[in-house]
Amino acid sequence: MSKETVAHKYEFKAEIKQLLDILVHSLYTSREIFLRELISNSSDALDKLRFESTKGTDILDKELPLEIRIDFDEKKKLLTVKDTGIGMNRDEIILNIGTIAKSGSAEFIKQLAESKTEINNIIGKFGVGFYSVFMVAEEVVIKSKSFRKDEPAVEWRSKGSGDYEIEELDEKLPRGTIIEIHLKEDAKEFAEKYKLESIIKKHSNFISFPIYLEKEKVNTVSALWREPKSTVKKEQYDEFYKFLTYDTDEPADVIHVSIDAPIQFNALLFIPKKNTDFFGFNREDYGLDLYVRRVLIQHKNKELLSEYLSFVKGVVDSEDLPLNISRETLQENSVFSKIAGNVTSQVLSYLAKKAKDDPEKYAEFWNQHGRVFKLGYMDFANADKYSQLLRFNSSFNEKDSDLTSLEDYVSRFKEGQKEIYYAFGSSRELVKQDPHLEIFKRKSLEVLYLFDPLDEFIVNAVRKFKDYDFKSVDNVDLKGMDTFKDSETQEKKFEDLNKTDEKHFDSLIDRIKKILGDRVTDVKESKRLVDSPACLVSPDDGFSAQMLKMMKMTNKDVQMQKKIFEVNKDHKLVRNLLKVFKANANDEYITDVVEQLYDSALLQEGTLDDPHNLISRLNRMLEESSDWYTEIKKYKK
Ligand code: ADP
Ligand code: MG
Repeated sequence: MSKETVAHKYEFKAEIKQLLDILVHSLYTSREIFLRELISNSSDALDKLRFESTKGTDILDKELPLEIRIDFDEKKKLLTVKDTGIGMNRDEIILNIGTIAKSGSAEFIKQLAESKTEINNIIGKFGVGFYSVFMVAEEVVIKSKSFRKDEPAVEWRSKGSGDYEIEELDEKLPRGTIIEIHLKEDAKEFAEKYKLESIIKKHSNFISFPIYLEKEKVNTVSALWREPKSTVKKEQYDEFYKFLTYDTDEPADVIHVSIDAPIQFNALLFIPKKNTDFFGFNREDYGLDLYVRRVLIQHKNKELLSEYLSFVKGVVDSEDLPLNISRETLQENSVFSKIAGNVTSQVLSYLAKKAKDDPEKYAEFWNQHGRVFKLGYMDFANADKYSQLLRFNSSFNEKDSDLTSLEDYVSRFKEGQKEIYYAFGSSRELVKQDPHLEIFKRKSLEVLYLFDPLDEFIVNAVRKFKDYDFKSVDNVDLKGMDTFKDSETQEKKFEDLNKTDEKHFDSLIDRIKKILGDRVTDVKESKRLVDSPACLVSPDDGFSAQMLKMMKMTNKDVQMQKKIFEVNKDHKLVRNLLKVFKANANDEYITDVVEQLYDSALLQEGTLDDPHNLISRLNRMLEESSDWYTEIKKYKK
């Protein structure tokens, strides 16, 4: 034995041991997916080889066909998966199989524990697919020969417990990798022809290299996206989608386009029924597969579609890109940029059509993917299409899950309306209580209810829909409101004040000004309130309360803008206050009430910094009122 052929023992890294322990000892119902993972690795290795060869790299065994062969021996409980891909040398095997790049396995284990999802839905996503073979194997032997000339062949073997062995082989192997799987007794069915055939057809039918089971080719090997749309059946689309995404469900939408001018490309895109990005956990796991003349150039390319469309899965294939294009220079390639631009507009047009033809289905789409889609407010090139596709909740909707498009909103404009009104809050219930909305209710004007924090970013970035500006309800020009008639059902609760009382009211306003001092810019009688006694409003053209809050979040030094304090003359509390004022202009009760109303207004806006004063004042007033209450009710002790 020469020195190189001595087998060396290595320990697996701790996290791999943990992963193996789970896989070896668990009884997963879908163990068959191990084969999908091995075939997918072979296919990757073949893709990489083809990529090297288009680059003109000098390659070992250049004449070997690119293919995958699967052999089995029922008696020996042996299954072999063989490919003619790039292979691995000793260092690569240690790096790729013995260690895990990224923190793949830790993430995988965590998700498996947390999300309770089926192992087969996620194992391929974390760069740990290979290890799934230990669900069925007693021992695995990998023999591999690198595509680089003069690299010795290597053999790796492991029983899936703590360690593995590697030795260099004297024997001559052809380029590629052979994986021998010595099956466990309870997994011997995976050495049966019928079983293997059905697994390959189910999970690996669209692998773009031929897969031979013994002598027979079992997969379809057609580029479905290149077929004329009219010849492709729904089942084929579904099957391809499942193959591509590992989703067990059918896609909600299929977008199959074939463009010839100005640039040629085919795209087969899918929108999943469900948002599978659990908890935004796998944010990096998106992108479209880019092919050039049926040759895979890049898995999950992230430049073909903007991130806000990252829920779209699929492939794009072009004749007009050079085969030897490198992934690094893709972005600078003008043909590529044009394709990317076109793919984005294809998706947006598709969605626009869906929204128009089938609003219910569109609502389902919106509920699943709307949160990601909303991030598109930065896509200025497609601003119009983007705004058309947005959905909000509005005061004209009955419940918080109902949706309103901007187009709907505008079509319901009152005569003379030129702005799109919106109110912001953390839930529909809270928004509805905003006193600024009272005048809109009175005038039957529709208001968009924004209770997703992203919505405020959207209205501030988009600014306009068609020719109409977005306008926050706390920032609206009240003079303009006179254009709109009050709705008829509105009845006056109080008699108008007589002349003398009007004067007293003006003096009360002056008294309130003194109480609030320079905390407000002015105190005025309100024209907008119906049910609330008072509120704070921004001076004309000021920032909305929400905008200021956001500015304060990003820059602590931003001063909260001073506001106008508005008082509702037709409110019982204010009328009573006027009585108190007439009797004793300096009554302390007035101070208490005004301070309380002011703090409540801040609280409602979400800008009350310190609630201590409010609470102690409130407690004191409650205590006092409890005396009157027991007296009025004549409750004895
Ligand atoms: P992933 O495929 O997500 O990278 P795997 O656990 O399936 O994770 O495989 C780990 C690595 O092992 C692959 O990235 C590849 O480098 C290497 N590998 C596995 N199978 C083969 C093969 N048949 N030929 C060449 N390299 C392989
Ligand atoms: Mg893999």
